[in-house]
Amino acid sequence: MSKFRCRCGTITRDDDHDHGLMMFTSAEFEADHVVELPDLIGCCRQVVDCPGCGRLWVWWSKDFSTEPVEYVRQPPASD
Ligand SMILES: [Zn+2]
Repeated sequence: MSKFRCRCGTITRDDDHDHGLMMFTSAEFEADHVVELPDLIGCCRQVVDCPGCGRLWVWWSKDFSTEPVEYVRQPPASD
């Protein structure tokens, strides 16, 4: 994955320094030894924060073998 078109039409790139994010579990991060950056990057999930609409797109598969899951920002519910 390099370029990605959001539902709003904005085209982003996963390597965009302002909108490409990396996500990993606490267990993956809390290694009891020094983790080299390439190893850490290899275990993360890719996330794109759309600059046009704020949607988050998460590739839960680390190898991009599945389609991304869309998360739409919602205002907090008022009770
Ligand atoms: Zn968008």
